[in-house]
Amino acid sequence: MMKLVFLGAPGAGKGTQAGGVAEALKIPHISTGDMFRAALGNETPVGLKAKAYMDKGELVPDSVTIEMVDERLKQADCENGYLLDGFPRTIAQAEALDQIMAPDCVVNLDVPEEILMGRLTGRRVCGSCKGTFAISRLSDPTTCPTCGGELIHRKDDQPETIKERLQVYHQDTEPLIGYYQNQNKLLNVPSVGDPQDVNNAILTALEGKA
Ligand code: AMP
Repeated sequence: MMKLVFLGAPGAGKGTQAGGVAEALKIPHISTGDMFRAALGNETPVGLKAKAYMDKGELVPDSVTIEMVDERLKQADCENGYLLDGFPRTIAQAEALDQIMAPDCVVNLDVPEEILMGRLTGRRVCGSCKGTFAISRLSDPTTCPTCGGELIHRKDDQPETIKERLQVYHQDTEPLIGYYQNQNKLLNVPSVGDPQDVNNAILTALEGKA
């Protein structure tokens, strides 16, 4: 049983790392960004509410986001815990999560600011398996090397929107580092270099915490 939160700026590697770590710990990987993108694709009421905020790189209002996560955490697969990726992103969301099902551990993926911009502009996402790839490492920038699906340049990975998302991160999300430090739940993991090494560092940091 492990209730885990991944914290970090856009481009810190949350999505890249969360899949493998969730699999290793046998807990569901819950990405609010992926949930919003799926809702948008299906044109659900939540998706329609979220669209304008996502397009601008702003946060979807807390009320909408918290309700969506609350419903998700009530599903049977969360009985063994969860790995939340991209939630909470505000103090109000963290306080709500403490009421719903408080995390045991919070991994902060730490990346120097100057690296983030390059990672985000060069990022491509698979439309099928949702894998994330750096364009610099791809021989064919349009095809997913894992599943053969089509690679997409996310609309909110354009330079202007990225700037807004980084600003929102500093203003609304970075204070969560102190919030969880005060609760003695924070594990700081540098997220630079080989993704597999970062994955190992996360699992080592989590050893004995479950
Ligand atoms: P991500 O894939 O995590 O970068 O999320 C993409 C977009 O979805 C964000 O820029 C927000 O507009 C929205 N979003 C995802 N998670 C949250 C959250 N916890 N609170 C508010 N908005 C969110």
